[in-house]
Amino acid sequence: MGSAGFEVDLFEARPFLGGRATSYDLPSADGAEPETIDNCQHILLRCCVNLLNFYERMGVRDRIKFYREFFFLEPGGRLSVLRRGRLPAPFHFTGSFWKMHCLSRSDKIGIAKALMAIRRERTRRKDLERISMLDWLLQKRQTPHAIDRFWRQVLVSAVNEDLERMAAIHGFRVFWLAFLARPDSYEMGVPSVPLGDLYSSEAWSRMGPNVRLHLRAPVEAVDGGDFVVAGQRLRGDFSICALPFERLESVGLAAPRFEHSPITGIHLWFDREITTLPHATLLDRTIQWMYNKGGGKYLQLVVSASRDLTNLSRNEIIEIAVGDLRLYFPRVHDAKLLKAHVIKEQRATFSAAPETEKLRPTAQSEIPNLFLAGDWTKTGWPATMEGAVRSGYIAAEHVAQAAGQPASFLLPDLG
Ligand SMILES: Cc1cc2nc3c(=O)[nH]c(=O)nc-3n(C[C@H](O)[C@H](O)[C@H](O)COP(=O)(O)OP(=O)(O)OC[C@H]3O[C@@H](n4cnc5c(N)ncnc54)[C@H](O)[C@@H]3O)c2cc1C
Repeated sequence: MGSAGFEVDLFEARPFLGGRATSYDLPSADGAEPETIDNCQHILLRCCVNLLNFYERMGVRDRIKFYREFFFLEPGGRLSVLRRGRLPAPFHFTGSFWKMHCLSRSDKIGIAKALMAIRRERTRRKDLERISMLDWLLQKRQTPHAIDRFWRQVLVSAVNEDLERMAAIHGFRVFWLAFLARPDSYEMGVPSVPLGDLYSSEAWSRMGPNVRLHLRAPVEAVDGGDFVVAGQRLRGDFSICALPFERLESVGLAAPRFEHSPITGIHLWFDREITTLPHATLLDRTIQWMYNKGGGKYLQLVVSASRDLTNLSRNEIIEIAVGDLRLYFPRVHDAKLLKAHVIKEQRATFSAAPETEKLRPTAQSEIPNLFLAGDWTKTGWPATMEGAVRSGYIAAEHVAQAAGQPASFLLPDLG
């Protein structure tokens, strides 16, 4: 908005920016310097075009490191690698896909047929919002192995929901945009700095002097288009409310009735190098993804849609995590676990369940000069950083339109 010539005041309840994509200092038990860790590893794919555009604007685009390989690890440590080859899209994975050890020939033939069906059906089928991804995969006669070791492994993390609870439309979007539309759109971007540095006030200051940040400034109420902050009513020509949906009622706005889906992040520090892989998806067990955060000694593990872990204690979760790691990385047997930290985000994202899309509100609220943003609004994407940026760009376009100064921010999807 600042770049379109508007004067912008941003009110953030917390003393720092970043929202759910955040990092914090973990105090050290032995009096050493605290360690800055992310609440959970956040990754993006090259198809997140609006997020990458936002990083350009903030001057942090070069802090994202892209990887061209997806590593699939079986218990026992056998590795399969998915990377693009020379063929044009959508056949660019053909070479590496047929060499993957973790899938049988019949698994692969079924997956290849289903991928082609996604290309055909994505614009034709009208029920993709109503059925679950699992329903669709079963219709396509996917083998149990193909479902568990391929579809589930990719989609549960991308959409943060189980296949049986995920609307098929989200699975279609992920596979179409990331795996079929363009040869490079699957490449995984991992921030090379803590999230707190990526979404820092310093980065925001590059947006120009007409964007003013007010930290520790919770909005107490939204009344018409006015915000009440520290007991004072503030009136702008236009307002954008970008609160998480579960916070809307606290400021007097109606909230959609979405369910949440949790994510659990597990941070483990070992006394020696456990792996040289930069990341890997771990098949057949509780832990879904491993990210190597420092010399193979500090590993960050992620479990999406982690309802099964909700009632477990920190120690129980660490025990499961270390037990799982032993199966993939033999060095864990001899290694000493120096430190461990578990972060359960019970309200990580909304659940992208069937019949949810129609409940997602557009940016235009019922109040003419109040607009809505947030990863839960109608962005077309699941709850992701790309979805959040899209929602902001869409809301900004509404404001510009309402002000009679149309501006365009949103970039079209790659497909
Ligand atoms: C554990 C975890 C892992 C994730 N992994 C990924 C990933 O790998 N890739 C990916 O793309 N996405 C991931 N996500 C999702 C991503 O973090 C979110 O989709 C995105 O951050 C949502 O941004 P947002 O701006 O919509 O909401 P939020 O980030 O929730 O921002 C809302 C802001 O509003 C502020 N606020 C609340 N109440 C008030 C008030 N009254 N007044 C003023 N301010 C207020 C909050 O402090 C917050 O800063 C993950 C999320 C979690 C929790």
